[in-house]
Amino acid sequence: MDKRDYYEVLGINKTASADDIKRAYRRLAMKYHPDKNSGDKEAENKFKECAEAYEVLSDGEKRKRYDQFGHQGLSGAGMHDFSRMNVEDIFGMFDLDNLFGGVFGGSHSRRSAHQNRATRGYDLETSVELTLNDIAKGAEKTIEFTRQDNCGECGGSGCAKGTKPSQCPTCKGSGQVSRGGGFFQMLSSCPQCRGTGKVIKTHCKKCRGTGKVPKKRVVKIKIPAGVHEGQGIRVSSEGEPGQHGGPRGDLYCYVRIKPHEFLQRDGNNLVALVPISFTQATLGTTIDVPSLDGTKKLKIPAGTQYGNIFRIKGQGLPDIRTGRSGDQLVQVTIETPAKLNAKQRELLEEFAKAENKTVSPKSTGFMDKLKKYFGNN
Ligand SMILES: [Zn+2]
Ligand SMILES: [Zn+2]
Repeated sequence: MDKRDYYEVLGINKTASADDIKRAYRRLAMKYHPDKNSGDKEAENKFKECAEAYEVLSDGEKRKRYDQFGHQGLSGAGMHDFSRMNVEDIFGMFDLDNLFGGVFGGSHSRRSAHQNRATRGYDLETSVELTLNDIAKGAEKTIEFTRQDNCGECGGSGCAKGTKPSQCPTCKGSGQVSRGGGFFQMLSSCPQCRGTGKVIKTHCKKCRGTGKVPKKRVVKIKIPAGVHEGQGIRVSSEGEPGQHGGPRGDLYCYVRIKPHEFLQRDGNNLVALVPISFTQATLGTTIDVPSLDGTKKLKIPAGTQYGNIFRIKGQGLPDIRTGRSGDQLVQVTIETPAKLNAKQRELLEEFAKAENKTVSPKSTGFMDKLKKYFGNN
């Protein structure tokens, strides 16, 4: 899927300040928030697209990588997979003080029900580059990515050293406030503490009160033989940490295939284009063809035509399910000599003279057809 430019998504230009970015995200997130677009899948997708753009552009490090290398630059940066997340979670994840100022009472109160419940962490995405040899045999790869971990400075509380969260003065620690009056009093999530009942007076400097910091992580993953471009390999519990003791999300590692000098993949088959000379094609020969493990001998029969395909059984890639190997296909192209020395020219002219008398069968047929088509006059 083609991704849109993040600046375009947020409708800002490349020089936008952190405040501009925040403002743009706030505006769009409110516009596309599902509470305002009940059940509108397109609005939801737009919302997620904005969140993804915001995740990158609001993070100095990720923004720098994106500016330099585009979407490619972010693989391994520990991006959230927003398409797998629900909107409520995305809405709550950017821990910016009063980013939405409690505009969505409805959504917050829905959220408050989950507020202190253990929830699973978010999934992350990264990618791994594989050679065709990796795919033929399967491989073990070491991948490095960034994910959130509990802040070591504050142990995840978000409070500055030596301080503790204190009771929220607005809701007196209940996490809820009542709205409306008289008969129809409604409880909704407290806008100051977002339903947690606690507020942090002095934020931890290291994590700016979020309780989380990005950390490099290195894991080894097993790549099964036969994987395809774009396929995701799930590494369970290597995603973001969960909330309130919930389990970590998963890491999805997407496969990218490094181009091979000579071989191209076609399903489970490998295709090699091999040039031969017109004399080799005419007289027949044995040639060396590239394969995954070195070169292989291939017999070219006399009279081989341009584009003929030869099959080397079982020398392709294994099927990811059955393990059965595909074939290697060798397609020959025939090179016409561009330069002749005197001797060659003489021999070929001799050959041409002989050819005029005994025209090769295919072209005889062609000339006949041509004459018939345009009328023999
Ligand atoms: Zn901290
Ligand atoms: Zn409160």
